[in-house]
Amino acid sequence: MVAKIQVSDLHKSFGQNEILKGLTLDVQEQEVLCLIGPSGSGKSTFLRCLNGLESVTSGTVMVNGQRVGDPHVNLNHIRENIGMVFQHFNLFPHLSVLQNVTLGPVQLNGLSRADADARAKKLLAQVGLADKAAAMPHALSGGQQQRVAIARALAMEPEIMLFDEPTSALDPEMVGDVLAVMQQLAESGMTMVVVTHEMGFAKNVADRVAFMDDGIIQELGTPTAVFEHPQNPRTKVFLNKIL
Ligand code: ADP
Ligand code: MG
Repeated sequence: MVAKIQVSDLHKSFGQNEILKGLTLDVQEQEVLCLIGPSGSGKSTFLRCLNGLESVTSGTVMVNGQRVGDPHVNLNHIRENIGMVFQHFNLFPHLSVLQNVTLGPVQLNGLSRADADARAKKLLAQVGLADKAAAMPHALSGGQQQRVAIARALAMEPEIMLFDEPTSALDPEMVGDVLAVMQQLAESGMTMVVVTHEMGFAKNVADRVAFMDDGIIQELGTPTAVFEHPQNPRTKVFLNKIL
């Protein structure tokens, strides 16, 4: 079986500054990998390398067996297969919730308006916002906006979802609803890489947890192994700070 994502000896520098110093990691189909680590350790850069938003300095990133950055591989096809949700949800402010979710499928996938609307309504129901289709983003709470952003990413029917600290910008009382949507998505079999500081989510939902520091994966294992029996002293220090 070919892994959904295969990263091999990935290095990434910005100028003289090497941020990723040789990362090797596979993500299997339907796996949920949570990526934890201190601020500035390169977690976002790593996610951006997975869908070609950043070029790699050396090493390889393969998605569905195709190398990201290969000039013979259509990067748009790879990207359409990878949904991404960010800390700041960046909904289009002048478009309704429904229009935010249908824009990609209509413009990029050539879906008819009726089909895109039907798909969007199903997804909005899935994220608990069936009654908000006509609302404008500014009328929603942060947690609701983030759930729209998840629905918008899912509307492209990706095989992989990347989440970059999706709940970090939210008021505490909004976090649970967003995590619940993500958990449901994980249980439906979506392949997911989730950068998060929500250790409860990582413990309950992740198949594996990777601790990243100083540009490499310092520790990788089941949530129980990483959280209950960390081997690497850096992991222990980090967990002591955040738990
Ligand atoms: P994390 O997500 O773990 O907080 P990032 O991947 O955002 O870490 O950043 C890792 C390091 O890379 C930081 O020192 C950051 O300043 C640097 N960096 C990220 N993007 C760029 C860029 N486009 N140009 C220069 N430096 C960058
Ligand atoms: Mg980041």
